[in-house]
Amino acid sequence: MKQNTLLNIAEEFGSPIYVYDSQKIISQYKRLTSAFNKVKQVKVNYAVKALSNVTILKLIKSLGAGLDTVSIQEVKLGLAAGFQAEQIIFTPNGVSLEEIEEVATLGAQINIDNLSILEQFGTKHPNIPVCIRINPHVMAGGNTNISVGHIDSKFGISIHQIPHILRIVENTGMKINGIHMHTGSDILDIDVFLYASEILFETAKNFKELEFIDFGSGFKVPYKAGDIETNIEEFGEKLTKRFNEFCKDYGTDLTLAFEPGKFLVSEAGYFLAKVNVVKQTTSTVFAQIDSGFNHLIRPMLYGSQHEIENISNPKGKERFYSVVGYICETDTFANNRRISEISEGDVLAFKNAGAYCFSMASNYNSRFRPAEVLVHDGTSHLIRQRETFEDILKNQVDINLFSLKKKTIKK
Ligand SMILES: *Cc1c(COP(=O)(O)O)cnc(C)c1O
Repeated sequence: MKQNTLLNIAEEFGSPIYVYDSQKIISQYKRLTSAFNKVKQVKVNYAVKALSNVTILKLIKSLGAGLDTVSIQEVKLGLAAGFQAEQIIFTPNGVSLEEIEEVATLGAQINIDNLSILEQFGTKHPNIPVCIRINPHVMAGGNTNISVGHIDSKFGISIHQIPHILRIVENTGMKINGIHMHTGSDILDIDVFLYASEILFETAKNFKELEFIDFGSGFKVPYKAGDIETNIEEFGEKLTKRFNEFCKDYGTDLTLAFEPGKFLVSEAGYFLAKVNVVKQTTSTVFAQIDSGFNHLIRPMLYGSQHEIENISNPKGKERFYSVVGYICETDTFANNRRISEISEGDVLAFKNAGAYCFSMASNYNSRFRPAEVLVHDGTSHLIRQRETFEDILKNQVDINLFSLKKKTIKK
C-alpha cells in the first residue's frame, strides 16, 4: 500500500491503528486457488483466529471461501458474517463435549482431535458425520531431512492410534466424512509436507465414506528480507498430482481442503503508531511509540520480526533505532534497526500486521484497543472503532465494599 495512503489514514482516524488492504487478501486467495485449479473440488477455509473482523470475514466470503474455526464464538462470528453453517469447519483442541454438541446443533462440520471425545460424540450422535484430526508426527527438520514430530504434541490423534479410531467407529456406527491434519510447521520444504500427505492418504484408505481431505495450513509468508516463502505454484503442482491419483484409487472425487490464516491476511495488514519520544541513552537511540505489546505481541511472544518504516520521512537518512512501546514492561519491537531518521510525532508503519496482531490485542495498562480500517477500491473504511473509556469499565462490577451490611452467620 502507498505510504501516503497510510499517512492519510493515521491523520484521519488517529493512531495507533490497523490498516488492511483488501486487494492483497484477494490476490493471495487467487494465488492459492489457481495453484490447485487442476483439482476438481478445492475448498479454502480461512482460519478466523488470524483476523476475525466481521467485514474481513464478509470479504473472504465473497471470494467463495469457507471458515476454519476453533471456538463456538468464532462459529457464531462466521454466521453473523453471513456464512452458511455448512461452510464452517470447527477444529478445536481440548474443548468440552458440550461446546462441540452446540456447534453441531448450529450445523457446522465437526472435526475431532482426541479419542475420548470421538467415542462420546459417536455414541450420542452416530448420525452426525465428523472429520478426524490426525497427527502424522512429521515436521520439517533442517534443510532436507524428515524428522518425526514430538510424539507428545497435544494436537490430533496419533497415526499410531488408527486401530483405536476404527474400533470406535465400528462400535458406535458413526460416519467419518473427512480426514484432517494441521502440523503447524511451515511448508518450506515441500517434500516434507508431501511426505506427511502420504501418511494422510494411507490413513484415508481406512474410511470408505470420505467427502474431503483437509491438509490444514503452514503456508509461509516472508516477514523480512531474505525470508523463504512457500513456493505455492510448485506445491500446488505436486500435491495436485498425488491427490488426483489418490482420488482415482479411492473411487470418488474428494474435496481438497486447506485452512490458511497467515497466508491470506498477514501481508495485507499494516500497524501504524506514532513516535511519542526519541530518547538517547549512552549506546542506544530509542523511538518510543504510542503502543506496546498490548497491541502487537508477536515480537515478544514469538520473537517475530516485523519490518518497520518511517512513513513520515521515508527518504530520510537511515540511522539505528530500537523501537519500543509505552508499556511498563519491556516491549521491544526492534533492536538497533536501520530506519529513516525519526523525529517525535513521526508515524511508523509495521508490516505483516494482518495475522495474529489485532486478534491478540489486549487492554493491558488499561489502554484502548486500536481502531481498524479496510482500504477497498481506493476508499478507507473504518471497520472497528477505537475503544473508549466505557469499554474499559464495561463488565466491571463496582461494589461499595464499605457500605455493605454485615450479615451475621448464626451458628
Ligand atoms: C491456526 C490454525 C490454522 C491457520 O494457521 P496459519 O499458520 O495462520 O495459516 C489452520 N488450522 C488450524 C487448525 C489452526 O489452529
